[in-house]
Amino acid sequence: MTRVAFIGWRGMVGSVLLARMQAEGDFKALEPVFFSTSAAGGDPPDVGVPAPPLGDAHDLEALADFPVIVTCQGGDYTKAVHPRLRAMGWRGYWIDAASALRMAPTSTLILDPVNGAQVQAAIAGGARDLIGANCTVGLMLVATVGLFRAGLVEWVTAMTYQAASGAGAANMRELVEQMGYLAGQAPHPAEGALALDRAVQAAFGHPAFPDAAFGHPLAGNVLPWIDTALPSGQSREEWKAQVEANKLLGLDPPVPIDGTCVRVGALRCHSQGLTIKLKKAAPLDEIEALIAEANPWVEVVPNTREDSLARLTPAAVGGTLRVPIGRLRKMTLGDTYLNAFTVGDQLLWGAAEPLRCALQQVLAVSA
Ligand code: NAP
Repeated sequence: MTRVAFIGWRGMVGSVLLARMQAEGDFKALEPVFFSTSAAGGDPPDVGVPAPPLGDAHDLEALADFPVIVTCQGGDYTKAVHPRLRAMGWRGYWIDAASALRMAPTSTLILDPVNGAQVQAAIAGGARDLIGANCTVGLMLVATVGLFRAGLVEWVTAMTYQAASGAGAANMRELVEQMGYLAGQAPHPAEGALALDRAVQAAFGHPAFPDAAFGHPLAGNVLPWIDTALPSGQSREEWKAQVEANKLLGLDPPVPIDGTCVRVGALRCHSQGLTIKLKKAAPLDEIEALIAEANPWVEVVPNTREDSLARLTPAAVGGTLRVPIGRLRKMTLGDTYLNAFTVGDQLLWGAAEPLRCALQQVLAVSA
């Protein structure tokens, strides 16, 4: 059985990956060894098969012994370890959730419902660095790849509503702590809505308000900046949309994609409002069919109030592999302007599931 090293398995993405692999019985087909940057020598997670104590995730000699490394640790770890392993002559498969290697020419972006066949061909052609795409970009493409494949898309704007868990385990917890803190400050209902508003505003500025991870309130607030700043005026999260989507789809010339990425107080699941400029005025029923038939995970939600509120929300989608897209209508801007809203669990198809699929593909050729 193939020995696989897992790093970053206790974070948000890693723990969802392990849960999915257990649910699918994947661990029966490999020999897992777990590593840690903080607790080497500790107990491994219980994944239903035996595993040795935690290895040291910075022990390059130990890692170089593995034909496959799966890491959900983060970009700093990737930058510190991957180049040194390759410099040592390591030829194994590196499967990674972090953004550090995504745009490297030697990297293949992985998103099974969108480019599974191309990933398989890349592996057969010698690709060794298989990198998960940005969660928001991946979910947008799972939802809309049918339109791209039909060559219908001239450009896209994506206005995102990104969940706290996209920033990691500590941030997810902090959002709930902020909610709890605010609830604790609420005055008696008899004092009225303005008293409630004053209490919340006062809480935002209070030293005891829990904001160490985000640096700002997220509960009762929105944060219109994710990741670092670029000279273009975009945030890095916004820049990723065009470069990663076009790399994933193999498009040249690229389709322009841009928008504003916003953190909101959802716990899990990213949502995005899309304006899709079509190259021609295709009828709405044809558009819906192209979207729905593109892969087994996308789901067209009828553009009604009831369906949208029941089926097109983080609350309805969290923890599932479904990627619904709805609010589909021609905009008043013109017949070639398509409005859409889509929601997806950014820890599943947005992060862990593409890694799981790539690992399956690698194991199939390593066996
Ligand atoms: P995370 O939850 O912060 O976990 C990363 C690592 O932090 C863990 O593996 C763990 O490493 C360490 N850690 C420290 N304190 C922790 C705590 N209280 N609970 C759990 N782990 C803790 O990060 P993540 O969201 O999984 O992201 C990992 C990588 O995937 C990043 O590069 C991120 O950009 C990328 N990514 C994330 C998402 C997402 O939706 N979250 C989506 C796509 C890609 P040790 O066990 O070694 O200490």
